[in-house]
Amino acid sequence: MKEIYLNKTDPNFKFEVANKLGGESLKACFACGACTGACPVKGVNGEFDPRKIIRMILLGLKEEVLSSNLIWYCLLCNTCSFVCPQDVKFSEVMGVLREMAVNDGHVSPSLLNTMKDVDKFFLDLRQKALFKLLEGKDKPIEVDIKEFVKSLL
Ligand code: SF4
Ligand code: SF4
Repeated sequence: MKEIYLNKTDPNFKFEVANKLGGESLKACFACGACTGACPVKGVNGEFDPRKIIRMILLGLKEEVLSSNLIWYCLLCNTCSFVCPQDVKFSEVMGVLREMAVNDGHVSPSLLNTMKDVDKFFLDLRQKALFKLLEGKDKPIEVDIKEFVKSLL
């Protein structure tokens, strides 16, 4: 378990996030964990936990949140918002955190655009894979994923 030192927290952090466009829904979170249970990233990376990130913001752990690689793992897929009983828009909160991380010098400004390019590349790749698989949809489909991806590039 990790200790939290109150003198190292920033009580204004949650207000800074909530006052930015997209960040306001954060205040409604009551920590039910439905987002974490539904998140596809949590399924492959146990460290990533949207509920925990929201608690960290509310606790004022500004430096820890903004300097963490975790805020870049989110796919912005909105699955968490669909299951959230409080209508928290976590992917919008994530957008606010990323902008703040850039503005506070935790990452290079070019990372935002590069990540957008990476996401677009993989979306295009998924689309190509889907078209190819659907060509043979009436037959059993077994592919070596690595070779299949190579054939699409
Ligand atoms: S599902 Fe909504 S209310 Fe529940 S922990 Fe996640 S953000 Fe908070
Ligand atoms: S938007 Fe991010 S946190 Fe929410 S379910 Fe998708 S990957 Fe997980």
